Amino acid sequence: MISSEMREQVENSSLIRAMFEEGRRLAEIHGAENVFDFSLGNPSVEPPVAVKEAILAITKGEDPKSIHGYTNNSGYEEVRAAIASSINEKFNTALTQNNIVMTVGAAGGLNVLFKTLLNPKDEVIVFAPFFGEYRNYVRNYAGELVVVSPNTVDFQPNLEEFKEKITPRTKAVLINSPNNPTGVVYSAETVQKLAEILNTKQKEFNSDIYLISDEPYRELAYDQVKVPYLTKYYASTIVGYSFSKSLSLPGERIGYLVIPDEVADFANVVSAANIATRILGFVNAPSLFQLVVAKCLDAQVDLGAYNRNRETLYNALLSYGYQCIKPQGAFYLFVKSPIEDDVEFCNLAKKKNILIVPGKSFACPGYVRIAYCVAYQTIERALPGFKALLQEVSKK
Ligand code: PLP
Repeated sequence: MISSEMREQVENSSLIRAMFEEGRRLAEIHGAENVFDFSLGNPSVEPPVAVKEAILAITKGEDPKSIHGYTNNSGYEEVRAAIASSINEKFNTALTQNNIVMTVGAAGGLNVLFKTLLNPKDEVIVFAPFFGEYRNYVRNYAGELVVVSPNTVDFQPNLEEFKEKITPRTKAVLINSPNNPTGVVYSAETVQKLAEILNTKQKEFNSDIYLISDEPYRELAYDQVKVPYLTKYYASTIVGYSFSKSLSLPGERIGYLVIPDEVADFANVVSAANIATRILGFVNAPSLFQLVVAKCLDAQVDLGAYNRNRETLYNALLSYGYQCIKPQGAFYLFVKSPIEDDVEFCNLAKKKNILIVPGKSFACPGYVRIAYCVAYQTIERALPGFKALLQEVSKK
C-alpha cells in the first residue's frame, strides 16, 4: 500500500489529470484547433538555432564517455566556469566555478537547496501568488511553508505582512521574479526593502536567513524592464536558474544554482548541495545538456513571439472589460475573475473550450491564470470566447 502522504498527492493530481483529460475530450468533440489550452507553462517558441547546432557539434565524433558519462555531482568544471564568467559579465559579479552547481532544472535546484538547508519544521516564507509546486518542494523535507498574503494592487510583495511573519524558525525566503503566475517583475526598490528587513531580522534573531531567488523566467522580460540581480542586495542570496524557458528546453531538465562566497556557511552549503544532488538520485545534471547550454549562454528564444501574444491578449481582454495588470515578464496573464468564485469561472470558460487555471492553485483566489505561451492563432481564435464569457457572467 502506498504512503498516506502519496495517497493525498494521488488524489490531488487526479484533479490536474482530469483537466488534461478534459482538454483531450473537448479536442475529440470539437477538433483540436477549437480547443484553447492556456493551462500549461510549456514554451511554444522553438529553442534557438544555436541549441541544435551545439547538439550536433558536441555529439559529432566525440568520445561518448566524455559526453554521456557521469560528471562531478556539481557538474563539469568547464561548464560551471563558463556560466560563472557569463554571469560576471552581465551583472558585474565575481563568481567562479566553485559558486555554481548544475541542477536538474529549477525544480531539481530547489529540491537540492531545501534538502541542504531545512531541518524539520523550519519555515520557508513565500509571497502569494506563487508557483503551487513550492508546497511540495518544502514538504519533501518536512519544512513548513509560510504564506504572505497577496498585494493585489500591483502584486509586489506585501512587505508589511512579511515583517510580521519572520520568526526564529525562518530558514529561507523564496521569491520568484519575473513571477509565475502574475508576470510581475519585483522592482529594485522592493528588493532593497526586502533585504533591509531580512538583515534587521537576522540580527534580531541571531539567525541565518537565506534568500532564494527562483529565476526560470529571468530572460523573459519585456519593454526593456530590468530584473534586479539579487546577490547584489543581500549577502545570503542563492539563485536558482533554469534553461527550461530561456532556451525552451523544459524536457531536458537543465539549470544551475549560484551560491556566492558571501552566503552564510558557504563551504558547507556547497558541499551539502553536491551531496544532496547525489543522494536525491539526480547524481548529476544531464551531461549532454550541460555541454549544450555552455555553448548557448548568449542565445535567446524569440521573445518577440511571446510579446506579440502578450500585447494582443492583454489589450483585447481589457477592451472587453476584464481587469488585469500588464505583465512585464514570463508568459502569464493573471486576470481578476469577473465572478467571485475563480474555480467556477474556469468551469464556465471550459464550456467555451478555454482552459485556464484558478488563482486558488497559486494561493490567490478570485483570479485566473492564462498561460499565453501558445500559438498566436490560438489567441486569435479564443478571443470571441473570452468576450462572450464576460458578457454572459455580467448578465447574471
Ligand atoms: N519555478 C517556477 C516559478 C516555475 O514556473 C517552474 C516551471 O514552470 C519551475 C520553477 C520549474 O522549472 P524547471 O522546468 O526548470 O524545473
